[in-house]
Amino acid sequence: MKPKDGYSGEELLNSTQGLSYNDFIILPGYIDFNPDDVDLETQFTRNLKLKRPLVSSPMDTVTESKMAISLALLGGIGIIHYNNTIEEQVAQVRKVKRFENGFITDPVVLSPEHTIAHIDEIKEKFGFSGIPITVDGKLGSKLIGIVTNRDIDFETDRSKKLKDVMTTDLVTAKVGITLAQANELLKKSKKGKLPIVDDEGKLVALMSRNDLVTNREYPFASKDTNKQLMVGAAISTKDESKERLQELVKAGVNVVVIDAAQGNSIYQIEMIKYIKKKYPELDVIGGNVVTIEQCENLIKAGADALRIGMGPGSICTTQVTMAVGRAQSTAVYRCSKFAKQYNIPTIADGGIATIGHIAKALALGASTAMMGSMFAGTEEAPGEYFYENGVRLKRYRGMASLEAMEKGGSKRYFAEDSKILVAQGVSGAVVDKGSMFDYVPYLVQGLKHAFQDMGVRTIKELHEKLYKEELRFELRSLSAQIEGGVHTIYSYKEPKYL
Ligand code: GDP
Ligand code: GDP
Ligand code: 5GP
Repeated sequence: MKPKDGYSGEELLNSTQGLSYNDFIILPGYIDFNPDDVDLETQFTRNLKLKRPLVSSPMDTVTESKMAISLALLGGIGIIHYNNTIEEQVAQVRKVKRFENGFITDPVVLSPEHTIAHIDEIKEKFGFSGIPITVDGKLGSKLIGIVTNRDIDFETDRSKKLKDVMTTDLVTAKVGITLAQANELLKKSKKGKLPIVDDEGKLVALMSRNDLVTNREYPFASKDTNKQLMVGAAISTKDESKERLQELVKAGVNVVVIDAAQGNSIYQIEMIKYIKKKYPELDVIGGNVVTIEQCENLIKAGADALRIGMGPGSICTTQVTMAVGRAQSTAVYRCSKFAKQYNIPTIADGGIATIGHIAKALALGASTAMMGSMFAGTEEAPGEYFYENGVRLKRYRGMASLEAMEKGGSKRYFAEDSKILVAQGVSGAVVDKGSMFDYVPYLVQGLKHAFQDMGVRTIKELHEKLYKEELRFELRSLSAQIEGGVHTIYSYKEPKYL
Protein backbone atom coordinates (compact mmCIF):
# COMPACT_ATOMS: atom_id res chain seq x y z
CA MET A 1 0.00 0.00 0.00
CA LYS A 2 1.12 3.51 -0.82
CA PRO A 3 2.18 5.40 2.30
CA LYS A 4 -0.02 8.40 3.06
CA ASP A 5 1.70 11.73 2.83
CA GLY A 6 1.24 14.32 5.58
CA TYR A 7 -0.72 13.83 8.80
CA SER A 8 -4.33 13.41 9.76
CA GLY A 9 -6.18 16.07 11.78
CA GLU A 10 -5.97 13.77 14.78
CA GLU A 11 -2.21 13.37 14.45
CA LEU A 12 -1.76 17.09 13.98
CA LEU A 13 -4.06 18.31 16.71
CA ASN A 14 -3.83 15.80 19.50
CA SER A 15 -0.57 16.88 21.06
CA THR A 16 0.71 18.86 24.00
CA GLN A 17 1.08 21.93 21.84
CA GLY A 18 -1.91 24.06 20.83
CA LEU A 19 -1.88 25.25 17.24
CA SER A 20 -3.11 28.39 15.53
CA TYR A 21 -4.23 28.74 11.91
CA ASN A 22 -0.76 29.82 10.79
CA ASP A 23 0.98 26.85 12.41
CA PHE A 24 -0.14 24.31 9.80
CA ILE A 25 -0.93 23.91 6.15
CA ILE A 26 -3.35 21.66 4.27
CA LEU A 27 -1.87 19.42 1.59
CA PRO A 28 -3.48 19.73 -1.86
CA GLY A 29 -6.12 17.28 -3.09
CA TYR A 30 -7.14 16.22 -6.58
CA ILE A 31 -8.90 18.69 -8.90
CA ASP A 32 -11.50 17.51 -11.39
CA PHE A 33 -13.94 20.45 -11.18
CA ASN A 34 -14.11 24.26 -11.41
CA PRO A 35 -14.28 26.68 -8.51
CA ASP A 36 -17.82 27.46 -9.66
CA ASP A 37 -18.77 23.85 -8.97
CA VAL A 38 -18.06 24.43 -5.28
CA ASP A 39 -21.19 24.75 -3.15
CA LEU A 40 -20.58 26.46 0.19
CA GLU A 41 -23.94 25.62 1.75
CA THR A 42 -23.56 24.74 5.40
CA GLN A 43 -25.39 23.85 8.56
CA PHE A 44 -25.33 26.90 10.83
CA THR A 45 -27.29 25.40 13.71
CA ARG A 46 -29.22 22.18 14.20
CA ASN A 47 -32.13 23.60 12.18
CA LEU A 48 -30.77 26.52 10.15
CA LYS A 49 -28.77 26.34 6.96
CA LEU A 50 -26.80 29.06 5.22
CA LYS A 51 -25.62 29.27 1.63
CA ARG A 52 -22.34 30.85 2.78
CA PRO A 53 -20.42 29.89 5.94
CA LEU A 54 -20.00 33.48 7.13
CA VAL A 55 -21.23 35.02 10.38
CA SER A 56 -20.60 38.48 11.79
CA SER A 57 -19.76 38.88 15.48
CA PRO A 58 -22.18 40.30 18.00
CA MET A 59 -20.00 43.33 18.72
CA ASP A 60 -21.04 46.96 18.88
CA THR A 61 -18.51 47.94 16.23
CA VAL A 62 -19.50 45.08 13.91
CA THR A 63 -23.14 44.04 13.78
CA GLU A 64 -26.20 46.24 13.70
CA SER A 65 -29.00 46.08 11.14
CA LYS A 66 -27.01 47.30 8.15
CA MET A 67 -24.35 44.62 8.60
CA ALA A 68 -26.98 41.95 9.25
CA ILE A 69 -29.00 42.92 6.17
CA SER A 70 -25.97 42.93 3.87
CA LEU A 71 -24.56 39.66 5.16
CA ALA A 72 -27.95 37.89 5.01
CA LEU A 73 -28.49 39.13 1.44
CA LEU A 74 -25.09 37.70 0.57
CA GLY A 75 -25.84 34.29 2.11
CA GLY A 76 -24.39 34.56 5.63
CA ILE A 77 -25.93 35.86 8.85
CA GLY A 78 -25.33 38.70 11.29
CA ILE A 79 -25.73 38.50 15.06
CA ILE A 80 -26.97 41.79 16.51
CA HIS A 81 -24.98 42.80 19.60
CA TYR A 82 -26.61 43.53 22.95
CA ASN A 83 -24.52 46.40 24.22
CA ASN A 84 -27.72 48.46 24.07
CA THR A 85 -31.21 48.67 25.54
CA ILE A 86 -33.78 46.00 24.78
CA GLU A 87 -35.67 48.50 22.62
CA GLU A 88 -32.58 49.35 20.61
CA GLN A 89 -31.65 45.74 19.95
CA VAL A 90 -35.23 44.83 19.04
CA ALA A 91 -35.44 47.78 16.64
CA GLN A 92 -32.30 46.48 14.89
CA VAL A 93 -33.81 43.02 14.54
CA ARG A 94 -37.08 44.48 13.21
CA LYS A 95 -35.22 46.46 10.57
CA VAL A 96 -33.63 43.28 9.25
CA LYS A 97 -36.90 41.35 9.30
CA ARG A 98 -38.74 44.15 7.51
CA PHE A 99 -36.13 44.52 4.78
CA GLU A 100 -37.43 41.82 2.48
CA ASN A 101 -40.65 39.85 2.50
CA GLY A 102 -42.91 37.47 0.72
CA PHE A 103 -46.33 38.41 2.07
CA ILE A 104 -46.02 41.28 4.52
CA THR A 105 -48.50 40.03 7.08
CA ASP A 106 -48.23 43.00 9.42
CA PRO A 107 -48.01 45.97 7.05
CA VAL A 108 -48.11 49.48 8.41
CA VAL A 109 -51.62 50.78 7.67
CA LEU A 110 -53.11 54.29 7.98
CA SER A 111 -56.59 55.80 7.82
CA PRO A 112 -57.90 58.41 5.34
CA GLU A 113 -57.76 61.00 8.13
CA HIS A 114 -54.00 60.66 8.62
CA THR A 115 -51.76 63.17 6.86
CA ILE A 116 -48.77 63.01 4.54
CA ALA A 117 -46.64 63.97 7.53
CA HIS A 118 -47.53 60.62 9.10
CA ILE A 119 -46.15 58.87 6.05
CA ASP A 120 -42.98 60.97 6.32
CA GLU A 121 -42.56 59.70 9.87
CA ILE A 122 -43.00 56.09 8.78
CA LYS A 123 -40.51 56.61 5.97
CA GLU A 124 -38.01 58.02 8.46
CA LYS A 125 -38.48 55.18 10.93
CA PHE A 126 -38.84 52.12 8.67
CA GLY A 127 -37.61 53.23 5.26
CA PHE A 128 -40.76 52.55 3.22
CA SER A 129 -43.67 54.75 2.22
CA GLY A 130 -46.15 52.56 0.39
CA ILE A 131 -49.04 52.52 2.83
CA PRO A 132 -52.43 50.84 2.38
CA ILE A 133 -55.37 52.89 3.65
CA THR A 134 -58.27 51.18 5.42
CA VAL A 135 -61.44 52.77 6.79
CA ASP A 136 -60.13 52.92 10.34
CA GLY A 137 -56.38 52.65 9.71
CA LYS A 138 -56.22 49.06 10.94
CA LEU A 139 -55.19 45.81 9.35
CA GLY A 140 -58.23 43.57 8.90
CA SER A 141 -60.52 46.50 7.99
CA LYS A 142 -61.90 47.42 4.58
CA LEU A 143 -59.21 48.56 2.14
CA ILE A 144 -60.12 51.82 0.43
CA GLY A 145 -56.88 53.04 -1.13
CA ILE A 146 -53.12 53.13 -1.12
CA VAL A 147 -50.62 55.95 -0.84
CA THR A 148 -47.23 55.50 -2.41
CA ASN A 149 -44.31 57.80 -2.92
CA ARG A 150 -45.64 58.87 -6.31
CA ASP A 151 -48.82 60.21 -4.74
CA ILE A 152 -46.94 62.49 -2.37
CA ASP A 153 -43.42 63.26 -3.55
CA PHE A 154 -44.25 66.64 -5.15
CA GLU A 155 -46.84 67.67 -2.56
CA THR A 156 -45.55 70.66 -0.58
CA ASP A 157 -48.42 70.72 1.92
CA ARG A 158 -47.50 67.83 4.24
CA SER A 159 -50.60 68.41 6.39
CA LYS A 160 -52.86 67.26 3.59
CA LYS A 161 -55.08 64.30 4.50
CA LEU A 162 -54.42 60.97 2.88
CA LYS A 163 -58.00 60.75 1.61
CA ASP A 164 -57.12 63.64 -0.72
CA VAL A 165 -54.03 62.03 -2.21
CA MET A 166 -54.60 58.28 -2.12
CA THR A 167 -55.04 56.12 -5.18
CA THR A 168 -58.34 54.26 -5.08
CA ASP A 169 -58.16 52.34 -8.33
CA LEU A 170 -56.50 49.25 -6.89
CA VAL A 171 -55.20 45.96 -8.20
CA THR A 172 -55.63 43.49 -5.36
CA ALA A 173 -55.37 39.73 -4.89
CA LYS A 174 -57.57 37.38 -2.89
CA VAL A 175 -56.28 35.72 0.22
CA GLY A 176 -55.28 32.11 -0.48
CA ILE A 177 -53.25 33.05 -3.55
CA THR A 178 -49.78 31.44 -3.51
CA LEU A 179 -46.66 33.55 -3.32
CA ALA A 180 -45.67 32.54 -6.85
CA GLN A 181 -49.12 33.48 -8.23
CA ALA A 182 -49.11 36.78 -6.37
CA ASN A 183 -45.67 37.54 -7.77
CA GLU A 184 -46.99 36.97 -11.31
CA LEU A 185 -49.90 39.30 -10.65
CA LEU A 186 -47.54 41.91 -9.23
CA LYS A 187 -45.33 41.68 -12.30
CA LYS A 188 -48.29 41.96 -14.67
CA SER A 189 -49.96 44.84 -12.84
CA LYS A 190 -46.77 46.92 -13.06
CA LYS A 191 -47.72 48.40 -9.67
CA GLY A 192 -45.28 48.73 -6.79
CA LYS A 193 -47.61 47.10 -4.24
CA LEU A 194 -50.16 44.34 -4.22
CA PRO A 195 -52.62 44.38 -1.32
CA ILE A 196 -54.11 41.00 -0.41
CA VAL A 197 -57.75 41.13 0.69
CA ASP A 198 -60.40 38.68 1.90
CA ASP A 199 -63.84 38.12 0.35
CA GLU A 200 -65.21 41.25 1.99
CA GLY A 201 -62.37 43.43 0.73
CA LYS A 202 -60.67 43.61 4.12
CA LEU A 203 -56.90 44.00 4.08
CA VAL A 204 -55.00 40.85 5.07
CA ALA A 205 -51.46 41.42 3.78
CA LEU A 206 -49.35 43.43 1.38
CA MET A 207 -46.70 42.60 -1.20
CA SER A 208 -43.96 44.81 -2.57
CA ARG A 209 -42.53 44.64 -6.08
CA ASN A 210 -39.16 45.64 -4.72
CA ASP A 211 -38.90 42.28 -2.98
CA LEU A 212 -39.09 40.50 -6.32
CA VAL A 213 -36.14 42.52 -7.51
CA THR A 214 -34.19 41.86 -4.31
CA ASN A 215 -34.95 38.17 -4.57
CA ARG A 216 -33.62 38.10 -8.11
CA GLU A 217 -30.48 40.07 -7.26
CA TYR A 218 -29.54 38.02 -4.19
CA PRO A 219 -30.26 34.39 -5.00
CA PHE A 220 -28.16 33.12 -2.08
CA ALA A 221 -29.83 35.27 0.58
CA SER A 222 -30.47 33.65 3.96
CA LYS A 223 -34.23 33.74 4.34
CA ASP A 224 -36.88 32.19 6.55
CA THR A 225 -40.14 30.69 5.32
CA ASN A 226 -41.77 34.13 5.09
CA LYS A 227 -38.94 35.16 2.75
CA GLN A 228 -37.68 37.53 5.40
CA LEU A 229 -33.94 37.80 5.94
CA MET A 230 -32.59 35.70 8.79
CA VAL A 231 -30.98 37.43 11.73
CA GLY A 232 -29.52 36.42 15.06
CA ALA A 233 -29.19 38.32 18.32
CA ALA A 234 -26.88 37.98 21.27
CA ILE A 235 -28.10 37.81 24.85
CA SER A 236 -26.31 37.31 28.13
CA THR A 237 -26.86 34.74 30.84
CA LYS A 238 -28.25 37.42 33.15
CA ASP A 239 -31.89 37.42 34.20
CA GLU A 240 -32.53 40.60 32.21
CA SER A 241 -32.07 38.44 29.14
CA LYS A 242 -35.39 36.70 29.67
CA GLU A 243 -37.27 39.91 28.98
CA ARG A 244 -34.88 40.77 26.13
CA LEU A 245 -35.43 37.35 24.64
CA GLN A 246 -39.20 37.66 24.79
CA GLU A 247 -39.08 40.90 22.82
CA LEU A 248 -36.54 39.51 20.35
CA VAL A 249 -38.76 36.51 19.69
CA LYS A 250 -41.74 38.80 19.12
CA ALA A 251 -39.65 40.73 16.59
CA GLY A 252 -38.97 37.49 14.71
CA VAL A 253 -35.35 36.76 15.59
CA ASN A 254 -34.25 33.45 14.01
CA VAL A 255 -31.53 32.42 16.41
CA VAL A 256 -29.99 33.62 19.66
CA VAL A 257 -26.39 33.47 20.72
CA ILE A 258 -25.66 33.24 24.41
CA ASP A 259 -22.65 35.48 24.49
CA ALA A 260 -20.22 34.49 27.23
CA ALA A 261 -16.45 34.37 27.13
CA GLN A 262 -16.42 31.18 29.22
CA GLY A 263 -19.57 29.28 28.36
CA ASN A 264 -19.23 26.40 30.78
CA SER A 265 -21.31 27.87 33.60
CA ILE A 266 -24.40 26.99 35.52
CA TYR A 267 -25.87 30.31 34.36
CA GLN A 268 -25.54 29.39 30.71
CA ILE A 269 -26.74 25.83 31.19
CA GLU A 270 -29.84 27.09 32.95
CA MET A 271 -30.42 29.75 30.31
CA ILE A 272 -30.22 27.23 27.47
CA LYS A 273 -32.65 24.92 29.27
CA TYR A 274 -35.00 27.84 29.90
CA ILE A 275 -34.96 28.88 26.25
CA LYS A 276 -35.43 25.39 24.87
CA LYS A 277 -38.41 24.89 27.17
CA LYS A 278 -40.05 28.27 26.59
CA TYR A 279 -39.24 28.67 22.88
CA PRO A 280 -38.70 25.16 21.50
CA GLU A 281 -38.78 26.51 17.94
CA LEU A 282 -35.90 28.92 18.52
CA ASP A 283 -32.35 27.73 17.89
CA VAL A 284 -29.83 28.59 20.59
CA ILE A 285 -26.10 28.90 20.09
CA GLY A 286 -24.08 28.21 23.21
CA GLY A 287 -20.54 29.28 23.96
CA ASN A 288 -17.89 30.20 23.98
CA VAL A 289 -16.17 26.87 24.51
CA VAL A 290 -12.80 25.36 23.66
CA THR A 291 -12.74 21.97 25.41
CA ILE A 292 -14.69 18.76 25.06
CA GLU A 293 -15.96 18.99 28.65
CA GLN A 294 -17.39 22.45 28.00
CA CYS A 295 -19.02 21.27 24.78
CA GLU A 296 -20.59 18.30 26.48
CA ASN A 297 -22.28 20.41 29.13
CA LEU A 298 -23.80 22.83 26.63
CA ILE A 299 -24.88 20.11 24.21
CA LYS A 300 -26.56 18.24 27.05
CA ALA A 301 -28.34 21.44 28.07
CA GLY A 302 -29.79 21.64 24.54
CA ALA A 303 -27.53 23.96 22.51
CA ASP A 304 -28.25 23.84 18.77
CA ALA A 305 -24.75 24.98 17.79
CA LEU A 306 -21.55 25.86 19.62
CA ARG A 307 -19.35 28.90 19.28
CA ILE A 308 -15.70 27.96 19.59
CA GLY A 309 -12.96 30.30 20.74
CA MET A 310 -11.47 31.69 23.90
CA GLY A 311 -8.82 34.28 23.43
CA PRO A 312 -7.91 34.19 19.72
CA GLY A 313 -9.80 37.38 18.82
CA SER A 314 -7.81 40.21 17.27
CA ILE A 315 -8.85 42.62 20.04
CA CYS A 316 -8.70 40.12 22.84
CA THR A 317 -6.42 40.00 25.88
CA THR A 318 -8.08 37.12 27.73
CA GLN A 319 -5.20 34.68 27.41
CA VAL A 320 -2.73 37.32 28.54
CA THR A 321 -4.69 38.43 31.56
CA MET A 322 -6.70 35.38 32.62
CA ALA A 323 -4.19 32.67 31.73
CA VAL A 324 -7.09 30.66 30.33
CA GLY A 325 -8.16 29.80 26.79
CA ARG A 326 -6.87 27.61 23.98
CA ALA A 327 -5.05 27.96 20.70
CA GLN A 328 -7.82 28.32 18.13
CA SER A 329 -7.06 25.56 15.61
CA THR A 330 -6.79 22.99 18.37
CA ALA A 331 -10.00 24.26 19.94
CA VAL A 332 -11.91 24.18 16.65
CA TYR A 333 -10.75 20.68 15.78
CA ARG A 334 -11.31 19.07 19.18
CA CYS A 335 -14.69 20.69 19.82
CA SER A 336 -16.02 20.12 16.29
CA LYS A 337 -15.05 16.46 16.33
CA PHE A 338 -16.81 15.99 19.65
CA ALA A 339 -19.92 17.97 18.68
CA LYS A 340 -20.22 16.01 15.44
CA GLN A 341 -21.20 12.90 17.39
CA TYR A 342 -24.34 14.81 18.39
CA ASN A 343 -24.78 16.45 14.97
CA ILE A 344 -24.21 19.86 16.49
CA PRO A 345 -22.48 22.30 14.13
CA THR A 346 -19.71 24.55 15.36
CA ILE A 347 -18.78 28.15 14.64
CA ALA A 348 -15.08 29.03 14.57
CA ASP A 349 -15.05 32.38 16.35
CA GLY A 350 -12.09 34.72 16.52
CA GLY A 351 -8.62 34.97 15.07
CA ILE A 352 -9.73 34.81 11.45
CA ALA A 353 -7.79 37.31 9.38
CA THR A 354 -7.65 35.86 5.85
CA ILE A 355 -9.63 33.71 3.43
CA GLY A 356 -7.11 30.94 4.17
CA HIS A 357 -8.05 31.06 7.85
CA ILE A 358 -11.73 30.58 6.97
CA ALA A 359 -10.82 27.61 4.79
CA LYS A 360 -8.68 26.15 7.57
CA ALA A 361 -11.42 26.63 10.17
CA LEU A 362 -13.85 24.70 7.94
CA ALA A 363 -11.22 22.05 7.24
CA LEU A 364 -10.84 21.53 11.01
CA GLY A 365 -14.52 20.68 11.29
CA ALA A 366 -16.24 24.04 11.84
CA SER A 367 -19.39 24.62 9.80
CA THR A 368 -19.17 28.41 9.79
CA ALA A 369 -16.66 31.13 10.62
CA MET A 370 -17.50 34.14 12.78
CA MET A 371 -15.63 37.33 12.12
CA GLY A 372 -15.20 40.63 13.88
CA SER A 373 -12.12 42.44 12.60
CA MET A 374 -12.59 41.21 9.02
CA PHE A 375 -15.98 42.95 8.78
CA ALA A 376 -15.43 45.90 11.13
CA GLY A 377 -13.85 48.08 8.44
CA THR A 378 -16.71 47.77 5.97
CA GLU A 379 -19.23 50.50 5.23
CA GLU A 380 -21.99 48.39 6.73
CA ALA A 381 -20.33 48.17 10.17
CA PRO A 382 -21.52 50.76 12.73
CA GLY A 383 -19.51 53.96 13.14
CA GLU A 384 -17.95 56.57 10.92
CA TYR A 385 -14.65 56.46 9.08
CA PHE A 386 -11.80 58.67 10.22
CA TYR A 387 -8.23 59.26 9.11
CA GLU A 388 -5.00 58.51 10.92
CA ASN A 389 -1.71 59.19 9.14
CA GLY A 390 -3.61 59.43 5.89
CA VAL A 391 -5.19 55.97 6.28
CA ARG A 392 -8.99 55.64 6.28
CA LEU A 393 -10.06 53.69 9.37
CA LYS A 394 -13.03 52.59 11.42
CA ARG A 395 -13.09 52.04 15.13
CA TYR A 396 -13.11 48.42 16.31
CA ARG A 397 -13.18 47.39 19.94
CA GLY A 398 -13.41 44.27 22.07
CA MET A 399 -16.68 43.89 23.93
CA ALA A 400 -14.59 43.55 27.08
CA SER A 401 -12.46 46.58 26.39
CA LEU A 402 -12.89 49.17 29.13
CA GLU A 403 -14.65 51.44 26.66
CA ALA A 404 -17.25 48.85 25.65
CA MET A 405 -17.74 47.57 29.19
CA GLU A 406 -18.54 51.05 30.37
CA LYS A 407 -21.34 51.01 27.80
CA GLY A 408 -22.62 47.63 28.99
CA GLY A 409 -20.43 44.97 27.36
CA SER A 410 -19.33 43.57 30.71
CA LYS A 411 -22.38 41.27 30.62
CA ARG A 412 -20.29 38.82 28.62
CA TYR A 413 -17.66 38.46 31.30
CA PHE A 414 -19.63 38.16 34.56
CA ALA A 415 -18.05 41.52 35.37
CA GLU A 416 -21.17 43.64 35.45
CA ASP A 417 -21.36 43.83 39.23
CA SER A 418 -17.63 44.19 39.82
CA LYS A 419 -16.37 47.43 41.28
CA ILE A 420 -13.13 47.23 39.36
CA LEU A 421 -13.45 46.33 35.70
CA VAL A 422 -10.60 44.23 34.35
CA ALA A 423 -10.27 44.57 30.59
CA GLN A 424 -10.14 41.43 28.45
CA GLY A 425 -9.95 43.34 25.22
CA VAL A 426 -8.63 46.48 23.62
CA SER A 427 -10.09 49.29 21.60
CA GLY A 428 -8.49 50.15 18.29
CA ALA A 429 -9.12 50.67 14.62
CA VAL A 430 -9.20 48.67 11.39
CA VAL A 431 -8.58 49.68 7.81
CA ASP A 432 -11.42 50.61 5.44
CA LYS A 433 -12.64 47.51 3.58
CA GLY A 434 -15.22 49.16 1.30
CA SER A 435 -18.68 47.66 1.02
CA MET A 436 -19.72 44.18 2.12
CA PHE A 437 -21.30 43.87 -1.33
CA ASP A 438 -17.80 43.86 -2.88
CA TYR A 439 -15.92 42.22 -0.03
CA VAL A 440 -18.10 39.15 0.66
CA PRO A 441 -18.26 38.01 -3.00
CA TYR A 442 -14.46 38.24 -3.00
CA LEU A 443 -14.24 36.08 0.14
CA VAL A 444 -16.67 33.58 -1.34
CA GLN A 445 -14.77 33.30 -4.62
CA GLY A 446 -11.49 32.95 -2.70
CA LEU A 447 -13.01 30.18 -0.60
CA LYS A 448 -14.18 28.35 -3.71
CA HIS A 449 -10.60 28.36 -4.99
CA ALA A 450 -9.38 27.05 -1.64
CA PHE A 451 -11.91 24.22 -1.84
CA GLN A 452 -10.79 23.41 -5.36
CA ASP A 453 -7.18 23.18 -4.18
CA MET A 454 -8.22 20.91 -1.32
CA GLY A 455 -10.08 18.80 -3.88
CA VAL A 456 -13.52 19.07 -2.28
CA ARG A 457 -16.77 20.47 -3.65
CA THR A 458 -18.72 20.96 -0.43
CA ILE A 459 -18.26 21.54 3.29
CA LYS A 460 -19.89 18.18 3.93
CA GLU A 461 -17.31 16.47 1.72
CA LEU A 462 -14.53 18.42 3.45
CA HIS A 463 -15.67 17.17 6.86
CA GLU A 464 -16.02 13.61 5.61
CA LYS A 465 -12.47 13.70 4.29
CA LEU A 466 -11.26 15.16 7.57
CA TYR A 467 -12.77 12.40 9.65
CA LYS A 468 -11.81 9.64 7.20
CA GLU A 469 -8.27 11.01 7.61
CA GLU A 470 -8.02 11.62 3.87
CA LEU A 471 -7.50 15.32 4.38
CA ARG A 472 -3.81 15.69 5.14
CA PHE A 473 -2.06 18.35 7.14
CA GLU A 474 1.45 19.34 8.04
CA LEU A 475 3.00 21.57 10.68
CA ARG A 476 4.84 24.60 9.39
CA SER A 477 8.15 25.58 10.91
CA LEU A 478 8.66 29.29 11.52
CA SER A 479 10.76 29.55 8.39
CA ALA A 480 8.10 27.64 6.45
CA GLN A 481 5.62 30.28 7.56
CA ILE A 482 7.93 33.03 6.37
CA GLU A 483 8.45 31.17 3.11
CA GLY A 484 4.66 30.88 2.72
CA GLY A 485 4.21 34.65 2.85
CA VAL A 486 5.60 37.32 0.57
CA HIS A 487 9.38 37.56 1.04
CA THR A 488 12.71 38.47 -0.51
CA ILE A 489 11.36 41.04 -2.96
CA TYR A 490 12.25 44.71 -2.65
CA SER A 491 8.76 46.14 -2.64
CA TYR A 492 5.22 45.15 -3.46
CA LYS A 493 1.65 46.32 -3.19
CA GLU A 494 -0.61 44.23 -0.97
CA PRO A 495 -3.83 43.11 -2.64
CA LYS A 496 -6.89 45.02 -1.45
CA TYR A 497 -8.08 41.98 0.49
CA LEU A 498 -6.25 38.89 1.78
P1 GDP B 1 -41.99 51.93 -0.61
O1 GDP B 1 -42.43 51.94 -2.05
O2 GDP B 1 -41.46 53.22 -0.12
O3 GDP B 1 -43.02 51.35 0.28
O4 GDP B 1 -40.78 51.00 -0.50
P2 GDP B 1 -40.34 49.77 -1.38
O5 GDP B 1 -41.52 49.04 -1.93
O6 GDP B 1 -39.28 50.21 -2.28
O7 GDP B 1 -39.70 48.87 -0.28
C1 GDP B 1 -40.41 48.50 0.82
C2 GDP B 1 -39.60 47.39 1.50
O8 GDP B 1 -39.96 47.37 2.87
C3 GDP B 1 -39.95 46.04 0.93
O9 GDP B 1 -38.80 45.23 0.98
C4 GDP B 1 -41.00 45.53 1.90
O10 GDP B 1 -41.07 44.11 2.01
C5 GDP B 1 -40.53 46.12 3.19
N1 GDP B 1 -41.60 46.28 4.15
C6 GDP B 1 -41.64 45.69 5.35
N2 GDP B 1 -42.73 46.03 6.01
C7 GDP B 1 -43.42 46.87 5.21
C8 GDP B 1 -44.65 47.56 5.38
O11 GDP B 1 -45.33 47.50 6.41
N3 GDP B 1 -45.04 48.35 4.33
C9 GDP B 1 -44.31 48.49 3.19
N4 GDP B 1 -44.72 49.30 2.23
N5 GDP B 1 -43.14 47.85 3.03
C10 GDP B 1 -42.70 47.03 4.02
P1 GDP C 1 -39.25 27.45 -2.92
O1 GDP C 1 -39.32 28.03 -1.55
O2 GDP C 1 -38.29 26.34 -3.05
O3 GDP C 1 -40.59 27.18 -3.52
O4 GDP C 1 -38.64 28.52 -3.89
P2 GDP C 1 -38.27 29.99 -3.64
O5 GDP C 1 -38.15 30.27 -2.20
O6 GDP C 1 -37.09 30.33 -4.46
O7 GDP C 1 -39.47 30.79 -4.23
C1 GDP C 1 -40.85 30.50 -4.11
C2 GDP C 1 -41.62 31.65 -4.73
O8 GDP C 1 -41.42 32.78 -3.88
C3 GDP C 1 -41.11 32.06 -6.09
O9 GDP C 1 -42.21 32.52 -6.85
C4 GDP C 1 -40.15 33.20 -5.78
O10 GDP C 1 -40.06 34.09 -6.84
C5 GDP C 1 -40.84 33.83 -4.60
N1 GDP C 1 -39.97 34.57 -3.71
C6 GDP C 1 -38.79 34.19 -3.18
N2 GDP C 1 -38.31 35.16 -2.38
C7 GDP C 1 -39.23 36.15 -2.40
C8 GDP C 1 -39.32 37.41 -1.77
O11 GDP C 1 -38.45 37.83 -1.00
N3 GDP C 1 -40.42 38.15 -2.05
C9 GDP C 1 -41.39 37.73 -2.87
N4 GDP C 1 -42.43 38.52 -3.07
N5 GDP C 1 -41.34 36.55 -3.47
C10 GDP C 1 -40.28 35.76 -3.24
P1 5GP D 1 -11.76 38.71 15.50
O1 5GP D 1 -12.60 38.22 14.36
O2 5GP D 1 -11.67 40.19 15.54
O3 5GP D 1 -10.42 38.06 15.55
O4 5GP D 1 -12.48 38.23 16.84
C1 5GP D 1 -13.84 38.47 17.12
C2 5GP D 1 -14.25 37.67 18.33
O5 5GP D 1 -13.52 38.05 19.49
C3 5GP D 1 -15.68 37.87 18.75
O6 5GP D 1 -16.59 37.12 17.97
C4 5GP D 1 -15.69 37.44 20.20
O7 5GP D 1 -15.79 36.05 20.36
C5 5GP D 1 -14.32 37.83 20.66
N1 5GP D 1 -14.31 39.07 21.43
C6 5GP D 1 -14.98 40.21 21.18
N2 5GP D 1 -14.65 41.16 22.07
C7 5GP D 1 -13.77 40.61 22.91
C8 5GP D 1 -13.04 41.07 24.05
O8 5GP D 1 -13.11 42.23 24.44
N3 5GP D 1 -12.25 40.17 24.67
C9 5GP D 1 -12.15 38.88 24.25
N4 5GP D 1 -11.42 38.05 24.96
N5 5GP D 1 -12.75 38.44 23.16
C10 5GP D 1 -13.56 39.28 22.50
